[in-house]
Amino acid sequence: MDNTFYITTPIYYVNASPHIGHAYTTIVADVLARYHRLRGFRTFFSTGTDEHGDKIVEAAQRAGVTPQEYADRISAQFRALWPELAITNDIFVRTTDPSHVETVRRILQKVHEGGDIYFGQYEGFYCVGCERFYMEKELVGGKCPQHETVPEHRKESNYFFRMSRYQEWLVRHITEHPDFIRPERYRNEALAFLRDPLEDLCISRPKSRLTWGITLPFDDNYVTYVWFDALINYVTAIGYPGGENFPVFWPVAGHLIAKDILKPHGIYWPTMLKAAGIEPYRNLNVHGYWNVDQSKMSKSLGNVIRPLDLKDKYGLDPFRYFLLRDMVFGLDSSFSEEAFIQRINSDLANDLGNLVSRTMTMALKYAGNAAPGPAGTVEEDRLLQQTAAKTVTEVETCFSELALHKALIAVWDFINVTNKYIVEREPWVLAKDPGNRDRLKTILYNLLEALRIIAVLITPFMPGSAAKIFDQLGIADADGQNFASLQTWGGLKAGSGLKRGEPLFPRVEVRVEAAKPAATPTEAPAPIKPEISYEEFDKADLRVAKVLTAERVPKSKKLLKLTVEIDGERQIVAGIGEDYSPDQIVGKSIIVVANLKPARLMGVESRGMLLATDTSEGLTLLGFDRPPRTGAKIR
Ligand SMILES: [Zn+2]
Repeated sequence: MDNTFYITTPIYYVNASPHIGHAYTTIVADVLARYHRLRGFRTFFSTGTDEHGDKIVEAAQRAGVTPQEYADRISAQFRALWPELAITNDIFVRTTDPSHVETVRRILQKVHEGGDIYFGQYEGFYCVGCERFYMEKELVGGKCPQHETVPEHRKESNYFFRMSRYQEWLVRHITEHPDFIRPERYRNEALAFLRDPLEDLCISRPKSRLTWGITLPFDDNYVTYVWFDALINYVTAIGYPGGENFPVFWPVAGHLIAKDILKPHGIYWPTMLKAAGIEPYRNLNVHGYWNVDQSKMSKSLGNVIRPLDLKDKYGLDPFRYFLLRDMVFGLDSSFSEEAFIQRINSDLANDLGNLVSRTMTMALKYAGNAAPGPAGTVEEDRLLQQTAAKTVTEVETCFSELALHKALIAVWDFINVTNKYIVEREPWVLAKDPGNRDRLKTILYNLLEALRIIAVLITPFMPGSAAKIFDQLGIADADGQNFASLQTWGGLKAGSGLKRGEPLFPRVEVRVEAAKPAATPTEAPAPIKPEISYEEFDKADLRVAKVLTAERVPKSKKLLKLTVEIDGERQIVAGIGEDYSPDQIVGKSIIVVANLKPARLMGVESRGMLLATDTSEGLTLLGFDRPPRTGAKIR
């Protein structure tokens, strides 16, 4: 069982079209599934749609169609979306599938026979939006805390699941299995909830008010409560009870959810499984929300970001990369298109894209169309090889901890080390002297092998880009490009046919604001200003400054606030935020007009101005060919 992996997304409720939150959960599941396949695990990945309940009936009525027609329509949107996002699910479960209906009825019957379902009176405050009763103490000012609407007072006879019987067992199980609910904050949240006595769960709805559901096997007058129905999809997907996948993929199951559905997954589901005589799942992995302008994205707020719009605009792999790189699993994250563009231009176009194109250009130029074989290894090569091995181990650790953003950071550290290897080895200098032939071959081989390793490591995240790198390296069959192939350096065969490819990640041109004069390479240079004397020029005190810290000025796309060292530390504000990220500028030596009268930009004081010029790819800072002395005068 140690070599099997089963990952699920929630089955998405078909009362609304897919948004970025659905895309995120499903892409994370896909990355995990792809990673485990590359590690040689037998892997199963399920997703689907949840199609029963009051809300579907209401949405269908508004649309003027039957609930089944409505469910078919929205479910089809999800099924059409996943291939567009390169999702590799093995099954798509619909709660209206006959096999699922059968499984739900079977489990209900089993729990009923076990004495854990009883008939009783219920009286309480019912929120139609939530499809549940609330206790008076749960209401906020007499209103549903989720919907801020006044619930209806209802009295009903219903069937109840004796959840209270399993409270003690569940507390013990969560306590004894630290990974059962993770990250820890959500485990604590579940345990906090279990400090109060657990109430039994109402699991039926009378057909007098709802017929759109699965009929109870032991009473035709009732349908099953939507959560009791939906959660069971996780075992339907693998053919419970008789299917051959069930004993393979249960109980290794890992569920992936957003934090709003912690309670049904962390409390109802394990107790349901226990009552049905099924072992609990292995872990529940809980992530935060994508916020847009600091508020949770929702249909009612009208700030829904549609995944396909972003994919069409920026490409699938950049979209997958951004979602995984910018969210710390478990915490909320803010979506910003500017941050997305920044990632594309710096991490993808600059770091990875340039590494691939520089390496391929040099290899084709100096070695022809076949990968050269290495000829002797020196210390600096061994360092690169050791860094690669360390990166693979780090990525594996990050995956086991669900720290997917850290896995990407580790890969990018290796990309930067490889870029540095190019800069320091200077293959273009070695190429001038035929005496360096062997050394040059080794360096080129190492760079190509580093690209192969990087391509394997990014495969779970950006499968399309990885395939393009394999293609340029002449690796026709990517099947062998798995984690086992990363165990030893040298997986790329000498003689492999190299191919020139298109740039992997074109830079995204940022809209030029009106205030900034547009500069294009074809434009004639601006006219030279009238002459000044040397004395006049000498009034300007230009100095070498070292950037110590950098951060964005809030609410500004362009401005970065920098702390620089000249004759001591000072703060300057620079309009380079669209062209440089704070990370990219820290540590650089720049040229500053040091005696310019202080000014305020967006309310932030600036003591000096840095020098830059426009290029066809955006602004570039003026720099130095040799390391300058901080504070030195420019003359
Ligand atoms: Zn509500």
